[in-house]
Amino acid sequence: MGTTGHDIHILVSGGGIAGNAVALQLLRAGIRTTVLERAAAPRPGGQAVDLRGASREVAERMGLMAGIRKTQLHELGFAHVDAQGREFGVMPVEMFDGKGPIADIEISRGDLNQVLLDAVAEAADGWLDYRYGDWITDLRQDDSGVDVTFASGGTERFDLVIGADGLHSTTRALVFGPEEQFRTYLGGYISFFTLPTPSDIKPGWMALRTVPKANFGIRPDYDPDTCKAIISLRIPEDPALRRDPAAQKQRIRDHLTGAGWHAETVVAAMDRADDFYFDILARVDLPTLSKGRVVMLGDAGYCGSPMTGMGTAMAIVGAYVLAGEIAATPDDLTGALARHEQQLRPFLEKAQEIPGGGLSRMLPDSAFGLKMMRLTIKIMMAKPLRPLVAKMFFGKTDDYVLPTY
Ligand SMILES: Cc1cc2nc3c(=O)[nH]c(=O)nc-3n(C[C@H](O)[C@H](O)[C@H](O)COP(=O)(O)OP(=O)(O)OC[C@H]3O[C@@H](n4cnc5c(N)ncnc54)[C@H](O)[C@@H]3O)c2cc1C
Repeated sequence: MGTTGHDIHILVSGGGIAGNAVALQLLRAGIRTTVLERAAAPRPGGQAVDLRGASREVAERMGLMAGIRKTQLHELGFAHVDAQGREFGVMPVEMFDGKGPIADIEISRGDLNQVLLDAVAEAADGWLDYRYGDWITDLRQDDSGVDVTFASGGTERFDLVIGADGLHSTTRALVFGPEEQFRTYLGGYISFFTLPTPSDIKPGWMALRTVPKANFGIRPDYDPDTCKAIISLRIPEDPALRRDPAAQKQRIRDHLTGAGWHAETVVAAMDRADDFYFDILARVDLPTLSKGRVVMLGDAGYCGSPMTGMGTAMAIVGAYVLAGEIAATPDDLTGALARHEQQLRPFLEKAQEIPGGGLSRMLPDSAFGLKMMRLTIKIMMAKPLRPLVAKMFFGKTDDYVLPTY
């Protein structure tokens, strides 16, 4: 008799979107699953993430839509603003038919993670072991399994380890090598946090102010009393910024002081936010997504950066394909990993592309550059060009054929 799902035990390192999505599908296939999340509790935070095309289809197939609808955002559009808050480049959602900068389904990252956690709890049925505040410190594999040592002490053996522990993945470092070997710096940093909604913000609209080498935006939240700040900085890489929120906030202050519109409100709210997030903009490329019985998923394996707008899409499509292939042949895990990679690569290649020429185009460094940017926005919005723009910027993965499991 072949191996059944219940005969194998899988460790998922990381309880973000990727880790929770794959755990959900593994549990539903009757596979014993342990999830290890380094944080002491589910991490809140993040602004709206897009579900479109294949990722929307996966959310539907995973039965997540009822949960998503409860906290789904109903964004009306996106506008640029000048120092006085006057709008330009106004793009109502219908301008690109839900295929523009605002996708047909938008939900805050923290809310989507909660939808996944609720579904995971429902699917657990005795097969789930979810551990917060712990992480892998050592990992050794042979032909039949992986011995994993935990920070909390103790070593356990698993049939497979899934590294879904984000851009700075420990699993990747232990199995593939140091982060720097696989990471490309994309020229800046990004920050997200929650703030009370300023009184003059147009409900349902995202607004963005760009100054030389920085932009900051305010984006609606599900709760109308709060909204999300999103800040991008174009600065040289500075390793000292890692794990130093005071230095990170100082960089933001340096760029936003005197930037007009709601700069002062955003900077003041930053110091009070309890979900302040700041990280490098980087891309991760691995020559292969797995080594033996360890496979990388989501940002850990194929980060494209929030600039792609596809991080969550890659995480949930990747999780669906990985769990689908594992469940198809639980007695041939290495075969499943190879098929998963073959199925997923065409999607990842497109999804990792950054639309619009990257950070130097998004954040010009001079007043002249800002003028050119304004002109480009105007051209992009011209009616005859809209279908092309939507395809180039937001429809990169439309041709991907999602496998069915
Ligand atoms: C708090 C937060 C806010 C974000 N906000 C946005 C946003 O607004 N827009 C956007 O485009 N992208 C955002 N991202 C990134 C986005 O979530 C990912 O690009 C995408 O969803 C892929 O998710 P992931 O699960 O691969 O990675 P992540 O979402 O980064 O999740 C990785 C998880 O692994 C955990 N972890 C890290 N190291 C370890 C370890 N050693 N052991 C165990 N667990 C570990 C982390 O705490 C985290 O929960 C955010 C990420 C986080 C963590």
